[in-house]
Amino acid sequence: MKTCTKCKQTLPLTEFRKQSSTKDGLKYCCKECDNKAAKSYYKKNKGKIVNKVKEWQKNNPEKVKGYKKSYYGKNKSIQPPTVPGDDT
Ligand SMILES: [Zn+2]
Repeated sequence: MKTCTKCKQTLPLTEFRKQSSTKDGLKYCCKECDNKAAKSYYKKNKGKIVNKVKEWQKNNPEKVKGYKKSYYGKNKSIQPPTVPGDDT
């Protein structure tokens, strides 16, 4: 059992996410508090995060291309090629 530093609840270790930088390898706050923090962080910094992603895409056009390529490549392999009228 471990006590969350935010909500002060004592919870089983399974309720804490892993974090290698801490002594016990787990985060100080529980999953629930972690989720809340992440949500509020995202809400506060939504614009910043979106801009960061956009900036990254701008600076890494090759990576974006490769990602799209592999995505479509995967989809292609899932769908069998249909060529109507090619069964002569
Ligand atoms: Zn908590």
